[in-house]
Amino acid sequence: MQPLPRYRLYARARDYAAIAGDVLSGRRLRGDDCARLEQAMQALGSAHAVCTSQARMAIHLAIKALVEPGRKVVLSPYTISDVINMVICAGARPVFADIERETCNVDPAQIEKLIDADTGAVMVTHLHGLACDMGRIRAICRERNVPLIEDAAQAFGTRFEGQRVGTFGDVGIYSFGRYKNVNAFFGGMLVTPHAELAERVRKEVESFPAHPLRHYLKEVVLGGAATDVATWPPLFKSLTYEIFRFGYLHDIQALNNQVTVDMDPQIKRSLPPEYRRRMTPLQARLVLSQLAQVDDFIRARIARARIYHEGLADVPEVLRPPLRTDFSHMYTYYPIQVDDRGALLRHLMTRRRDVAQQHLKNCAEEPCFADYARDCPNAHRTAKSVVLLPTYPRYSDRDAEQNIRVIREFYGKS
Ligand SMILES: *Cc1c(COP(=O)(O)O)cnc(C)c1O
Repeated sequence: MQPLPRYRLYARARDYAAIAGDVLSGRRLRGDDCARLEQAMQALGSAHAVCTSQARMAIHLAIKALVEPGRKVVLSPYTISDVINMVICAGARPVFADIERETCNVDPAQIEKLIDADTGAVMVTHLHGLACDMGRIRAICRERNVPLIEDAAQAFGTRFEGQRVGTFGDVGIYSFGRYKNVNAFFGGMLVTPHAELAERVRKEVESFPAHPLRHYLKEVVLGGAATDVATWPPLFKSLTYEIFRFGYLHDIQALNNQVTVDMDPQIKRSLPPEYRRRMTPLQARLVLSQLAQVDDFIRARIARARIYHEGLADVPEVLRPPLRTDFSHMYTYYPIQVDDRGALLRHLMTRRRDVAQQHLKNCAEEPCFADYARDCPNAHRTAKSVVLLPTYPRYSDRDAEQNIRVIREFYGKS
């Protein structure tokens, strides 16, 4: 049996039609849709919201607003390298706090240990859509009087004890990038309870030019439409999968690199000029048109997570994420951890499954961030062991069950 692909974008034919219509009619930059989107965020529990070109830019602006140059930001090393760069570009110093094995999220006890008189902020990441322990982390930050930033780029729609992540600290950040559960191909959001901070950020963002059309179309056509065609199941099963499977099993780098993200992290000490952009009304309309479906999609992913959770319960070699059905985990994937990841992935490919490793690195030991190196044993081990089992809404229970069957077979379980 041929598999469904490891991921599909959250893009629909009508999104491409809307983009084409806006570009041809010149409507791309017209409309008050960014303001409408910001109002929609208020209805979701954020006092103030500001649209940004990308989530990473919102992180950068948050650090600049909250942290004096030279001070420290305590954060997880298990995240995309550009998040670390946004801290450095804002003049702050990253301090890596180790993660918990089971959740892949920063360990609150480590945060508590690392806060000192030089700490300017704590930034937590809700990785894979799993909420950090915000009760505990918020209490630590309040007690030590340190600003709290939430990177909820992978967790738009996740709740902790019923409250949306992103709304617990001084700033929350969401992403509407190409691989996220709300896809405007590019886009981010900063939310905050502080009116004055929001105004300051808004002033700066409004001084930036809109995203250039050429750059945006490159993202939509080369990044989006080409991926959507290649992962369209009839084509994927008959052609795309065979090509990538061949590349994987024969170790052909040129093919494997096509599906590897953040391959060669580099330090950035100053903000790339192309990051100084603002969101266009077209992007805001794409986000607005997808908000109503977010919770249904989370429900679908939770249901699939439950299948994996039960199917792998008696395989001791597999470390499973916690099963949460209260929306405190939205399972962008179902991330399992195994010590023999390379061998398991090869077995899955041999048995015609399409499953990927998590490509995130332990930034605390990346050569480019050597100035900030810290020993983070859990992040070290986790970065070598996470396998992302697909959960996306258009995936099928049958494919999830096939993944389980092949993983069980690998570990000698029938
Ligand atoms: C995707 C992502 C970002 C960056 O989002 P952009 O909108 O691409 O800038 C930041 N943090 C995490 C954890 C992410 O997954």
